[in-house]
Amino acid sequence: MNSALNHPEEKPTILVVGGAGYIGSHAVLSLQQSGYNVMVLDNLVYGHRDLLEPLQVKLIEGDMDDRPLLDWLFTAHKITAVMHFAAYAYVGESVTDPAKYYRNNVVATLTLLEAMLAADIKTFVFSSTCATYGVPQIVPIPEDHPQSPINPYGMTKLMVERILADFDHAYGLKSVCFRYFNAAGADPEARLGEDHDPETHLIPLVLQTALGKRESIAIFGTDYPTEDGTCIRDYIHVTDLATAHVLGLEYLLEGGNSDAFNLGNGSGFSVKQVIEAARQVTGREIKAVELERRPGDPPALIGSSTKARDVLGWHPQYADLHEIIRHAWNWHQKRHG
Ligand code: UDP
Repeated sequence: MNSALNHPEEKPTILVVGGAGYIGSHAVLSLQQSGYNVMVLDNLVYGHRDLLEPLQVKLIEGDMDDRPLLDWLFTAHKITAVMHFAAYAYVGESVTDPAKYYRNNVVATLTLLEAMLAADIKTFVFSSTCATYGVPQIVPIPEDHPQSPINPYGMTKLMVERILADFDHAYGLKSVCFRYFNAAGADPEARLGEDHDPETHLIPLVLQTALGKRESIAIFGTDYPTEDGTCIRDYIHVTDLATAHVLGLEYLLEGGNSDAFNLGNGSGFSVKQVIEAARQVTGREIKAVELERRPGDPPALIGSSTKARDVLGWHPQYADLHEIIRHAWNWHQKRHG
């Protein structure tokens, strides 16, 4: 058992890299609620300073490939572990500008890991993705499913997973990789939520349409081999993702071995079902337009998360799609209404 956990008054300090982003900020809140001291490193390229204001967390504005900054940070502060959310995540852009993705998601992460090792920090929680699996051979996808990404974004995440395996073997750096399915929803009290620019994800786009910010929502493809012809995804509440990160951290602090876990609800909803649920939650008419398939979308992605439940004791609190959308709706009305 880590000594810091034995003495609750000595709260370990966790550095959250990318903590001003969507999932990172929810992780900051969950860590704080579990009693940890938190510091955030974020370059604010996609993160939002104002998101963190209600959390009163120390924000260091900078890049994770700024080695002198990292060396200062790890010397000036006693950091026990690092959580890493700072990645570019636009799949389409990763195809057209892979250099940007390999440089930020892989090379900059390597700098972060080397700085951690130099400071003898050997506990790391990493945001990976179900995109590392590529097109699934079976659903629900288990963690030992072959990993063959079909775009550079997924490949960058897989590369970091491989780096982490080698770094454990060579340097004893212990890590948990979380392979997220479709992160959605917002803090149930609407303190935090999703605010991407550009926005490409289904649920926020549907809610922008409900708010009248968009005329219609596009349905990308109605000829998939699914019941209603639209793609099926496993939507997981961002607060449940955040809770898993705290559990993953504690698993490592208690001496757990490096491992990877899927985070999903294990059930899927089609694009049409999501839009219909949003109509019910918002009580608004949401115009949908059927378009061609978006390149690179597998028909169905559903994750098996029994491992996270069994090993980490993770129990998603907000598995109901309507509740996920309701929390997102509350946030969107507050932020953009
Ligand atoms: N989608 C859609 N219209 C949109 C955005 C997304 O029909 O405007 C579909 C997309 O093709 C996919 C699903 O909604 O099948 C979820 O897409 P999203 O971009 O939210 O997440 P992804 O599964 O790509 O990570």
